[in-house]
Amino acid sequence: MSAKKPEPLNPGRTREPCPVCGEISYSLGGVHPQCAVRQADQKRMSRIKREQATENTSKPPSSVKPWQKICPKCKAVLHVRKKVCDCGHKNVIAPAADRRIES
Ligand SMILES: [Zn+2]
Ligand SMILES: [Zn+2]
Repeated sequence: MSAKKPEPLNPGRTREPCPVCGEISYSLGGVHPQCAVRQADQKRMSRIKREQATENTSKPPSSVKPWQKICPKCKAVLHVRKKVCDCGHKNVIAPAADRRIES
């Protein structure tokens, strides 16, 4: 029985340098699996960065101090001790770090 299996790591194949890191890759596509992942990740990260950048421009500047909170209704910045917003919204939630139950 002659076992003739196709060898993916056959050194006789033409070896192409990985386009990502420049090292010789024995992988089928000529790209190291980890390099392909890294390349895809870089594309994804740049896309996410771009999305975040466009998102930030549409959002109000988040310059909320630890002692401040934002009214979910009118987006006004309030002092954490202020329980009712000027717009009439009562349940303005303070940031978790400063949340205190006062009665
Ligand atoms: Zn590589
Ligand atoms: Zn409000």
